Amino acid sequence: MGYNVAIDGPAGAGKSTIAKLVAKKKGYIYVDTGAMYRALALCFLDAGIAPGETQRMISACEDAVVSIRYENGVQQVYLNGRNVTSRIREEAVGNMASVSSAVPQVRAKLLELQRELAEREDVIMDGRDIGTNILPHADVKIYLTASVATRARRRYDELREKGEECDYEEIARDIQERDERDMNRETAPLKKAEDAVLIDSSEMTIEEVAAEIIQYCR
Ligand code: C5P
Repeated sequence: MGYNVAIDGPAGAGKSTIAKLVAKKKGYIYVDTGAMYRALALCFLDAGIAPGETQRMISACEDAVVSIRYENGVQQVYLNGRNVTSRIREEAVGNMASVSSAVPQVRAKLLELQRELAEREDVIMDGRDIGTNILPHADVKIYLTASVATRARRRYDELREKGEECDYEEIARDIQERDERDMNRETAPLKKAEDAVLIDSSEMTIEEVAAEIIQYCR
């Protein structure tokens, strides 16, 4: 049985950055479950499926194979044998994932993959329903959040740094819409597990958040 740390929270709270840092310091494997939802979303987009076409998503999902490998400790996501790790970062894929992840069959498809990884390895796994649904007996549960303004500002700075044109108001709206969908869907909505520690990172540095999480780990 692996040692399991679950980190849930809304988009842009800094989960992946912090989870990677904790993983490095503690020797855990970082499992990014959002990447798995993104891989299925890419599969739907490639098949020409629109966000409202749930039935087509369910059919496409049956044949899709999502798998995870680690190369030099970095998670690589494969869709039907093809490495899609960089393609899934596109904005359109994220938006599709936020819609398609509400489909129960999509979630069911990824549940076993996530549980198997956590069973075998010491992991820090980030997502939306890890502490509430995927790993209800995780050794440490964190709910990491930050204000919409902080999350939008971080995303804006990140995109500008990459030289991409973007609009702060649009990013903030996008984040609010994603929160709305993730928190209000019927299957495995985003919420804090009762036994999770709440960390609001709005006024904290990455190092401060990582240090706090490490305090809770064995
Ligand atoms: O975390 P990331 O932004 O990569 O996730 C993409 C989308 O996948 C999220 O907006 C969310 O709707 C969905 N997701 C989920 N459950 C997870 C991880 C991600 O529903 N465990």
